[in-house]
Amino acid sequence: MDSSISFENTHREHTSGYFKEIEEIRFDCLFDFCPVEIIKAVTMYDIESFRYYIDLVFRNMSEVPIDEVNVMLMLYDGNNIPFAKLPVTYGIAPELGMKASYGRISYAPVQPSDEFGRGIRIPLPDSYFKRLEAVVCDVAFSNGKRFVYNAQAKYIPRSLSEFTAAEKNAYDTVNIYEKLEDRFPTRFSPVVNDYSWICCCGHKNPLSAEKCEDCTRERDWELTVMDSENLEKAHEEYMREHSPQFVSGYKKEFMKKREIVNAREQSEKEQLALKALKNVEKQEKRKESLIKQIIPRIALYFAVMALLLAFLYWLSLFTNDIW
Ligand SMILES: [Zn+2]
Repeated sequence: MDSSISFENTHREHTSGYFKEIEEIRFDCLFDFCPVEIIKAVTMYDIESFRYYIDLVFRNMSEVPIDEVNVMLMLYDGNNIPFAKLPVTYGIAPELGMKASYGRISYAPVQPSDEFGRGIRIPLPDSYFKRLEAVVCDVAFSNGKRFVYNAQAKYIPRSLSEFTAAEKNAYDTVNIYEKLEDRFPTRFSPVVNDYSWICCCGHKNPLSAEKCEDCTRERDWELTVMDSENLEKAHEEYMREHSPQFVSGYKKEFMKKREIVNAREQSEKEQLALKALKNVEKQEKRKESLIKQIIPRIALYFAVMALLLAFLYWLSLFTNDIW
């Protein structure tokens, strides 16, 4: 169901209300082939009207000024189908606006690398969402060209916590920016699309930036060194040179795991042996009871046979007398 919220609402005097921030929505990803990227997204509510809003900050990653951007926001609760779709337009037309600052809305084209959207509060439905997706539908450039992108999030960087022990070790050995780790810690492996790249520190740079604008790490260095195949190679290299230390650490870990497995295997074996022993006992008991049952049966058989013979003998005495 499409939301009926009109865009005019987003042009309310943003300085008149008292807004309280709810949360920052992270967009740690790049769109699939798109000249703009989301830099920041914050949800808030107006403490006078209790209405929810979202403030999205975009950035022009292309090398051409932008006049207008059409975005579709999709809000999800627990399902995979959005419960609301909000079309949003940022533009230089008098009824739109590119961004807002200090009570003023700017209608000027967005220059390359500049941000837009900040301060333009988009009203949200009353039921708050669990997940938000954005699609950049189309972009009109100042040179008169308009392109349809329908770009969705595609390039998601791999978090450092997902690195294997070998990858982490390899990265530690090849990281020439160790001094930057305190201020700009490595959070991701970098990703790149046709217009932008996300640095390992999380900052979104235009593709033209050879060094991260935030942490100064080099784009090409990151893309080469932090590639998982290259990290694997670096790890192998390190192992050749430092295998004793690394291997001993791993060996301990391996042996510990092996001990646990051994103990488990041992207990399983004991359980099996116990079971087998019980089976043998059962079988023995069955045999014993069988013997106990067979002996009286044999005795009974002989007794019956003896009686039968005696009876026949007795009968034969009578028949002899008659004949
Ligand atoms: Zn960076």
